[in-house]
Amino acid sequence: LPITVRSLSEATGVKAGELIKRLMKETNQLYGNNSPVEFDTAAMIAVDNNIELVIKRQKTAEEELIEEFEQMMENVDPEKLRPRPPVVTIMGHVDHGKTSLLDKIRKSNVAAGEVGGITQVIRAWSVTHKVLNPDDPNEELLEKQITFLDTPGHEAFTKMRARGANVTDIAVIVVAATDGVMPQTEEAVNHAKAADVRIIVAINKVDAPNANVERTKRQLYNLNLLPDNMGGDIQFVETSALTGQGIDDLLTAISLEAEFNLADELKADPDRPAFGTCLEGYMTAGEGVNATVLVQQGTLRPGDIVLCGANYGRVRTMYNDHGVAIEEAGPSTPVRITGLGGVPNADDPFYAVDELTTAAKIAEAREKKDREASLNRFQAVKDLDSLTAAKSKLKVTELKIILKAEARGSVEAIKKELEKLTHEEVTTRVLHAGIGAITESDVQLARISPDDTLVIGFNVTADDAALRLADEQGVSLREYQIIYNLVDDVKAAMEGRLKPIE
Ligand code: GDP
Repeated sequence: LPITVRSLSEATGVKAGELIKRLMKETNQLYGNNSPVEFDTAAMIAVDNNIELVIKRQKTAEEELIEEFEQMMENVDPEKLRPRPPVVTIMGHVDHGKTSLLDKIRKSNVAAGEVGGITQVIRAWSVTHKVLNPDDPNEELLEKQITFLDTPGHEAFTKMRARGANVTDIAVIVVAATDGVMPQTEEAVNHAKAADVRIIVAINKVDAPNANVERTKRQLYNLNLLPDNMGGDIQFVETSALTGQGIDDLLTAISLEAEFNLADELKADPDRPAFGTCLEGYMTAGEGVNATVLVQQGTLRPGDIVLCGANYGRVRTMYNDHGVAIEEAGPSTPVRITGLGGVPNADDPFYAVDELTTAAKIAEAREKKDREASLNRFQAVKDLDSLTAAKSKLKVTELKIILKAEARGSVEAIKKELEKLTHEEVTTRVLHAGIGAITESDVQLARISPDDTLVIGFNVTADDAALRLADEQGVSLREYQIIYNLVDDVKAAMEGRLKPIE
C-alpha cells in the first residue's frame, strides 16, 4: 500500500495542510490529500515528529510456518492453570558474590549424605524451602519449590525477551556491602526493569569488616529501589555467602514475592504436552547430544518427541538437577535430556509434539531460516568496507546514528558519551534511539542516507529482517557490548577511518 498525504497525516497527527506545505518545500512537487508520498520523504517526516515507522515485510513461507506452529503449541487453556514455582536469576557486579550465594543456597538445601552426590552441575536447579503455614493450627511447614537459573550476566533476559517470554520471574540483585553499587549493578537493575521482572535486593558480604550496609542501601535507593517503609515494594535482604547469614531470609523473600506479587503470573497447565526453553546444549562422549531445558508448560516424559530449535528426536533419558533419572518433569522444572539429533542452542524453544513428521517439518523450516540469517549477517558485516570507502569520497558533515540498546539507562549513557565527541567538520546526531533489538524500521531510517548513517546496537542484536534489509540497502550495522568500543568507532567514523570488523 503506498503512503499518501492522508495516511501520513493520520499516522503522524500532523494536519494535512501543514504536511502538504512541508512536502512541497522538501520535494518541489504539488500534493493533494491522496497524492502518494515517497517512502524516504515520509520517513524523514516521521523522524522529525518522533514517530517510529513500522515497516511490514512479507514473511517467508518458513517464518509463517514456524509462527503458526508456535502459536498453536503455546495456546494454553486458562481454565487449567495451576500454581508453579518461581524461576529466579541472580545478577550483579562481578565479584559481589553471585556464584558464592548460589553455591551456598544449593549446599544448604542438600540433605547431609547427599553432598558428595552433586556431581551434576547443570545451569538450573530447584531447591525446596520450608515456610510456616500461617493458616495451619498445627503450624506444619509448607514446602515451597524455587528454581534457580545459573546464567551469566543478563543473558536470561535479553535474548529470551526477543521471544516475548521471559524464562525468569524474579531477579535477585546482589550488591556487596564492601563495594556498594557498581556499574554492573546498575546495568543488572536496568536489565531486570526492562524485562519487567520482580527485583529482590541481596546486600551481600555483610560479614566483612569493611561492609557498609547503610551506604549501600542509600545507593540502591538512588536507583529507585525502595523498600516498603519508603513507599516502594522492593524486599532487601542482608546476606553473607561466607557464613550463611541471611540465606534462609533470601529464600523466604523469594517465596513471599512469588506468593504476593506474582500469584497470577506463576501459573501453568501441567496436563498438556510440554514446552519451554533450552538453557544449554552440548555433546558428551558417552551420551551424545545433551540439552538442559526448562519446562515452562505441560509435563515432559521420556519417549516424548521433542523439537528443540532446529533439532528433534525422542527423549531417551531425562535427569533431574541431581543427575537422577526421572519419569516426569512439570512446569518450572529444569531437566537434562538426551535423544535429540543435534545440539540445540541456548534460548531455543522446545516443544513436545505428536508426530515425528511434524518435528521434522518445523526443524527443516528453522534450519532454512537460520541459514538465511547467518548469510545476511555476513553480508552486513562486509558492508562496513563500503562505508569506509564511501566516506573517503564523500565529505560527511553530519554522522547520523540510529541507536538501539537493551535498557533506557544504556541509551542515556551512550547519548551522553556521544555528545562529548567533537570534530571540526563533523557533528553527530542521534536520529533515533530506542530499546530492543535492531529491527527493519531502524534500518529503513538509515536507508535515507546510508553513506553517513550508522545503525548501532548496544547489548542487543539485529533481527533477521533488519540484517536482510541492511544488506540490500548497503546500510552499516554494528553491535557492541562495551560502550568504550562503541564510542571509539563512532569517533573513527567521524574521522572517516572506520575499520571493517575483522
Ligand atoms: P561473583 O563474581 O559475583 O560470582 O562473585 P564470587 O561468588 O565469585 O565471589 C567473589 C569473591 O568474594 C570470592 O573470593 C568470594 O569468596 C568472596 N565472597 C563472596 N561472598 C562473600 C561474603 O558474603 N562475604 C565475604 N567476606 N566474601 C564473600
